[in-house]
Amino acid sequence: MDLTLPRGMRDIEPAEYSRHARVRVAFEDVARLYNFQVMEPAALEHLSILRAKSGEDVDKEIYAFKDKGGRDLGLRFDLTVGITRYVCARRDLRLPAKIASFGGMWRYDEPQYGRYRWSHQWDLEMFGPPSVDADAEVIDASSAILKRLGLQRTVIKVGDRRVVEGYIRSNLKVSDPAKRVELMRALDKVEKKTRRELEEEYSAKGFTRGELAKVLDLGELSGEPDKVLHKASEMGLSSTEDLASLRDILRSRGVTNVEYSLRIVRGIDYYTGIVFEAVDGANLKLGSLCGGGRYDALPKVFGRPDLSATGAAGGVEREAMSMTKEESRGGTFAMVACASAEAYGYASAVLARIREEGIPGDLSPPGKSLGKQLEDAAKAGVSWALIVGMKELAAKSVTLRDMKAGREEVLPLSDAVRRLQNS
Ligand code: AMP
Repeated sequence: MDLTLPRGMRDIEPAEYSRHARVRVAFEDVARLYNFQVMEPAALEHLSILRAKSGEDVDKEIYAFKDKGGRDLGLRFDLTVGITRYVCARRDLRLPAKIASFGGMWRYDEPQYGRYRWSHQWDLEMFGPPSVDADAEVIDASSAILKRLGLQRTVIKVGDRRVVEGYIRSNLKVSDPAKRVELMRALDKVEKKTRRELEEEYSAKGFTRGELAKVLDLGELSGEPDKVLHKASEMGLSSTEDLASLRDILRSRGVTNVEYSLRIVRGIDYYTGIVFEAVDGANLKLGSLCGGGRYDALPKVFGRPDLSATGAAGGVEREAMSMTKEESRGGTFAMVACASAEAYGYASAVLARIREEGIPGDLSPPGKSLGKQLEDAAKAGVSWALIVGMKELAAKSVTLRDMKAGREEVLPLSDAVRRLQNS
């Protein structure tokens, strides 16, 4: 008997299962605190419902089949479509409707690191009149979930596709909406393809090099929200009002790990305004931990042009992977060892700095010899020691010792921090 699983499927073993359970608890806590009603949409839908988002092309990316009665059905590929169908059918719901969900989904994706054919998402959606407060609420709640999971290094990148589309329409004078969408799609491909490959692809599609280059250059506009908005105003970009309001609301709510990036356009067929993605700054390879934005087009297809919608979905598997990486740093991941009593103040400053950078660490109480401190650290399974003495104090450096390999290197403190973050 063949005991293997179909391609892209895997068993969720106990260690991973318990991390998923922790993600679920964080999600449910935040859903309750932020006043979202938790429900679960059906796992199986009519294919026509699943096609509402991006047309028949979606068939290639999902599990679609005929049931024994000959009906065209498909497994849900996210929770958003089902929740939106549910809300659009329920005219009795009080608005704004705040609905959340947690569950499995199936995509006929090419399996790779952090990408499966069966995976799980948490999901937060808000339906009602369009309001940037709702976008802020969803971003704030998503950030709160990631914080509860101890993911210290997440960066939330926010864009607005109306700004990009407006630039393509007004500055590049592209009047055909389909061509505008095609050009925007290039921004979504930047991380997967080289500029050369994009040039070839877009010249085959009839775009000039200049058009593509200008869109890609616009996508480079990223960084601190104030800086991006200032530059956008210098460039005369339109439709930036919501980004400005969003910056103010998030700031007053204390959500500070936010960058603006016009490269973020996400699922082009679907989103209509502010869009965002959160990444793990310590593991960019993993792709987005969660993402979302405003998608007014979908309620319209489901017969509710009166409803505006915004939401976010988080990848449970990816967040669990980030948690493992964070945990593998261990409670005493970086032990600061002080070689001389006079350098103890500097050793404390080094400890404060690494903690501020999100690296867990500790410092031995004064009085122990350096040899004894390192011996204790080795016994506790600490993998890195930051040795600080008079020499290091004078140079504002540290001696970084790889405890497993027994190697040492003198480095400026900021280089040592970077090394630890990337370890
Ligand atoms: P999306 O529904 O495509 O906006 O994705 C939302 C989140 O779900 C992403 O940020 C990922 O964390 C996660 N995700 C999407 N597709 C997959 C997949 N095939 N495997 C694992 N996680 C996924």
